[in-house]
Amino acid sequence: MDGVLLRTEPADVPFLDVGAINARHADELKAVAARVIDSGRYVLGEELAAFEREFAAWCGVPHAVGVGNGLDALALILRGYKQLGALGEGDEVIVPGNTFIASFLAVSANRLLPVPVEPDPLSFNLDPARVAAAIGPRTRAIMAVHLYGQLADMPALAALARQHRLLLIEDAAQAHGAACDGRRAGAFGDAAAFSFFPAKNLGALGDGGAVVTADARLARAVAALRNYGSEVKYRHLFQGVNSRLDELQAALLRVKLKYLDDEVAWRRRVARRYRDGIRHAQIRLPGVAREEQHAWHLFVLRCPHRDALQQHLQAHGIHSQVHYPVPPHRQPAYPELHHLSLPLTERLHEEVLSLPIGPTLGEDAVARVIAACNAFRCPP
Ligand SMILES: *Cc1c(COP(=O)(O)O)cnc(C)c1O
Repeated sequence: MDGVLLRTEPADVPFLDVGAINARHADELKAVAARVIDSGRYVLGEELAAFEREFAAWCGVPHAVGVGNGLDALALILRGYKQLGALGEGDEVIVPGNTFIASFLAVSANRLLPVPVEPDPLSFNLDPARVAAAIGPRTRAIMAVHLYGQLADMPALAALARQHRLLLIEDAAQAHGAACDGRRAGAFGDAAAFSFFPAKNLGALGDGGAVVTADARLARAVAALRNYGSEVKYRHLFQGVNSRLDELQAALLRVKLKYLDDEVAWRRRVARRYRDGIRHAQIRLPGVAREEQHAWHLFVLRCPHRDALQQHLQAHGIHSQVHYPVPPHRQPAYPELHHLSLPLTERLHEEVLSLPIGPTLGEDAVARVIAACNAFRCPP
C-alpha cells in the first residue's frame, strides 16, 4: 500500500534549491556578469562601491564594507576593534552556546575568549538574563547571533551592553530582513556581519560577506584590514588580510538584493503555513513573538524523536537537515571548552530539525511537508 503511494508521489522536496532561486533571475544575472567581464575591473571597483551603498541603505545603516565571506566579516569586526583599542588579547566575548562554529572561530582567531551562554529554549537566541550572569571583569563584548533568521532580543542586550560598557556585535549571517519596529538586523549593534554564502537569504554565486556599521572609524579600519591593511596603495596601516568582495559577486548581489524583500515575504508565508498546519503532540514548533522579527532562513522544530522524524520525512521524499548536530564547545576544534556543561544547548542539538524552506518552495510542497509531519508515528 505504502509502496504504491510512494510511486505516485511527485519528485522529492529538496531542502533548498539554490539553482532554482538563481534560475528565476538568470537573464539578469548573466547580463551583469557580462558587464563585469567586459569592464576589465574585477576587484575593488564600481560594482562593489554601489553594492556597499545599496546594502547599507537596505539595512538602514550608514556604512557597509564588502568582504570575502561571513566568517571574515565577523573576524574583521573584532580585529578592527582590537586595532582601535576597544578589545585586547585575552578579553572575553559572550557568544551563544548554540550557534554555527563561525561565531566562535571569529573570536578565537583574534585571540579573544568565547564564553558560551545557554539560549532561551523558545527563540533559540541569547537569553539576556543568562548573558547578564556571564558578564565578568574580562568581558568586553557580546556577540548576538540572530539564529535561524530570528532577531535576538536586541533592546535587552543593548541595555546590558550600555550598562557594562560592552561592544554589541551582531552575527546577522542568517537574518537578512529580520526586523523590530521597522529596524532591520544589522542596525542594532555597534557592528554586524552578514554572509552571502549561496544558501543564505541573500546569496551570491560564490562566497561573500559584509560588515555593516554606524561607526565610521570601524568601517574605515575594516576597509583597510580587508585590503592588506592599506588605504593608499603600498602604504600599510595594519597587518591586514586579503578578503574582498569581488566585482562579479557584488554585481550579482545587486541584482538579487532587488528581490530580497519578496523572497523574505515568501519565506514568512511558508513559515506561517507550517505553523498553522503542523499539529503533532511530539513536535514543538519554533516560537516567534512578532512576524517581522523572523526572516526564516531556517524553519527549525524540536522533536524528542528527531532522527526517526527525519527518516520518516526522507521516506516521503522530503529532505530535512540538522542545524547543528554538535555544539561548538563539543567540537574537536575546541578541546579547551570540552569541560563546559551546557545541558540546554546539548539537548537542542539532539532535538532540532530544519524543514525545507525557501523562496521557490511551492504550495504543494509545503502541503506535503505538513501532511508528512502530521502523519509521523513516534517510535515506542
Ligand atoms: C553562514 C554563517 C556564518 C559564516 O558565513 P560564511 O559566509 O559561510 O563564512 C557565520 N555565522 C552564522 C550564524 C552563519 O550561519
